[in-house]
Amino acid sequence: MSTVPGPMRIPPLLTELNTDFWTGGLAGELRIQRCTHCATYHHPPTSVCRNCLRGGLTAQVVSGTATVMAFTINHHQWSPTATTEPYVIAIVELPEQDGLRITTNIVNCDVRDVHIDMPVRVVFEPLADVALPLFEPDR
Ligand SMILES: [Zn+2]
Repeated sequence: MSTVPGPMRIPPLLTELNTDFWTGGLAGELRIQRCTHCATYHHPPTSVCRNCLRGGLTAQVVSGTATVMAFTINHHQWSPTATTEPYVIAIVELPEQDGLRITTNIVNCDVRDVHIDMPVRVVFEPLADVALPLFEPDR
């Protein structure tokens, strides 16, 4: 778990579609929606498979590893209670499927150490009634 004061956090609004994603971390699981018909993963969650156009999507636990595809370093303090330290906003790709990506923060390392193609793994940060999936270097 990340213990460093982080960016301003607003808990997500839980819906029938996204609850598994946002609460999976409470059980230590990264849960991504997957089609029961064609096995395509989807993120963000959807009510209809974007591949086969059918319903029947369920949450599936994935490995929790990923690769940094893109990132930026934020230096702006967006609220008086947020950290004044720079932090990384990143898009990471999960190995389970090409193009399966999550927007997240990279934590537990110096922001100057983050780079494209960096291997990372999920860690969860509790927030209200959810656990935010963040990623740290996979050493
Ligand atoms: Zn499908």
